[in-house]
Amino acid sequence: MDLKDLYRDVIVDHNRRPRNFGRLDPADAQAEGFNPLCGDRLTLFVNLDGDRIREATFEGSGCAISVASASLLTEAVKGRTRAEVKALFDDVHALLTRHDAVADPATLGKLAALSGVREFPARVKCASLCWHTLNAALERRAEPVTTE
Ligand code: ZN
Repeated sequence: MDLKDLYRDVIVDHNRRPRNFGRLDPADAQAEGFNPLCGDRLTLFVNLDGDRIREATFEGSGCAISVASASLLTEAVKGRTRAEVKALFDDVHALLTRHDAVADPATLGKLAALSGVREFPARVKCASLCWHTLNAALERRAEPVTTE
């Protein structure tokens, strides 16, 4: 099995069985995101320990990439500080958009599976929607996030 097959399997698995799916009630912060290009919708919930994300969950529906990306995000950000989450998003964004970006397994872990998305520029917003939505939740922005 080559890396591409492995990455595709991760996406398929997280789309079929999204991790941390459901609402947190009560949640310390939450935000809604919408990608009108594809119709992806999600709500992200986080509980915080000071500056650190203790728990992250999501609800919503959308294409396989958007659901898998949100599922991977909730696993990846758990236990991380805001600054670490921001750095991780920068790495993921580079991975999604730049052909010269190399996935560092040490920092990206399973998120590296999203690297296949850069072959499909129209899907970048599907994969990044959950990250923009998480930022909005952490910044406690009230209005829903849209990728437009
Ligand atoms: Zn989508």
